[in-house]
Amino acid sequence: MAIETCQLTGVQTAKLVKCDYCGKKVCYQALKAQKRKKIDHRYICKACWSDMKKRKAYKSAN
Ligand SMILES: [Zn+2]
Repeated sequence: MAIETCQLTGVQTAKLVKCDYCGKKVCYQALKAQKRKKIDHRYICKACWSDMKKRKAYKSAN
């Protein structure tokens, strides 16, 4: 697995997840919350969490 750089913290890690609200690849430190869906996960980063619109979208999502 390739080492990538977190677009929020600059941390280099092989374990990045894609925020569903800004599309950035972020590390687990920059991830605010995650939801397990039936087939997938939904991730929101800390930057999006501070955006009320995105936070609401996250909370209302299945
Ligand atoms: Zn985000």
